[in-house]
Amino acid sequence: MGRDFGSLWIWKEGNVRDRLGWYYSVATNSMPAKYLICKRVPVDPSIYNMDIDSLWKEYDTALERFIRLWSDVRSRSITIRDLPIAKVNLLDLLLAIVKGSLHACNFCRWQCKVDRTTGGKLGACKLEAESRVSTFFHHMGEEIVFRGIKGSGTIFFTSCNMRCAFCQNGDISTDRFNGSVVTPYMIALMAYKLRLEGCHNINWVGGEPTIHLHNIVEAIHEMSRFIINKVRYEDELFVIKSINADMPYRYSMSSSNAYYGDEFNVPQLWNSNFFMSREALNVLRCIMDVWLPDLKFGSNKCSLRLARTPWYWETVTSNIKQVHCWDEDMVIRHLIMPGHVKCCTKPVLEWVADNMPEVLINIMDQYRPENYCDPYSPNYDPAYKDMARFPSKQEIDEAYRYAKELGLNFEMITFEKHFLR
Ligand code: SF4
Repeated sequence: MGRDFGSLWIWKEGNVRDRLGWYYSVATNSMPAKYLICKRVPVDPSIYNMDIDSLWKEYDTALERFIRLWSDVRSRSITIRDLPIAKVNLLDLLLAIVKGSLHACNFCRWQCKVDRTTGGKLGACKLEAESRVSTFFHHMGEEIVFRGIKGSGTIFFTSCNMRCAFCQNGDISTDRFNGSVVTPYMIALMAYKLRLEGCHNINWVGGEPTIHLHNIVEAIHEMSRFIINKVRYEDELFVIKSINADMPYRYSMSSSNAYYGDEFNVPQLWNSNFFMSREALNVLRCIMDVWLPDLKFGSNKCSLRLARTPWYWETVTSNIKQVHCWDEDMVIRHLIMPGHVKCCTKPVLEWVADNMPEVLINIMDQYRPENYCDPYSPNYDPAYKDMARFPSKQEIDEAYRYAKELGLNFEMITFEKHFLR
């Protein structure tokens, strides 16, 4: 891999490595990703004949086994190499759950309960069952713990379940026909390509990944079956190449980047607005190795006006709290918005200080007026005139001063570019 991700300076600073220990171990292939552990958790073979309620009951039992096994793997008292792959396993069960749920979609807080398999009535995300990917590439703009040396393997899905007026990916999030239709196998191959080329994780993002949960779970199911040097690749290569935004031939592929034993291994990163349902979160719990929630608005008044999203605060904070309660690896992101330090930044920072002051938080100053807030765009809506500017230096300073006063764990991850060595 040339320069080594595992010996990057950030892992020796402060408590970053402690906070992201599981992710670090999977990224460096000294531990298997959670999806490989799922394969060792047997479930009732009759799951394919169960209704959704029975599938969730089976999940409760399987989850206990998964947590015990994950804990043993983490403490190194057991290695999955010594365990057989269960014929019908937790990964199969998760796939059955998301496929079953698609008939009355409950992936996010909108709880539309529309049947996305029939193409009739659409929910708030405006999606049927198929997924589109706008692009995928080695993302060198993410936090250093994720971009590392060779980048974060980012897959951008189309559409969103929120409507942020200032969205920086407005072309992807507001145009549901953006990008190319992909199958779960193609998505798995994108992950395969990125990881073999040295990416340190698979970064599920959009738009919003939650609304593609069924296809993402199936893609992970597919990649869990990739055996070293035996991946069928050629047929889909043309489609995949047309979506890939990396410079051709920039990265060479090596299986030494990507395997735990002879199984394909890569940490899964959930880069999301966290406006998901508890059901979706429970599915993701078994397969995500690290979480990157976006905690943007400090009140529902702001989320309604700027993102046309009700129930924002209670939904997103409760999901983040749940992930923290599960003792998972996480980095929270908060974007400083112009004119929203008092109503959004401060309540967000206070909430983190009250609930999880030790968690890494990236307080971002890169807001720029985009989408409906960009006065030079044909999409510009004067109703968002107040958002058509960059945050001022005073606002940014105030946000950082307040975070410091609250004792938050933000400086290393927020200012890492200044510390580059
Ligand atoms: S993903 Fe969310 S917005 Fe889309 S149909 Fe399902 S519940 Fe509705």
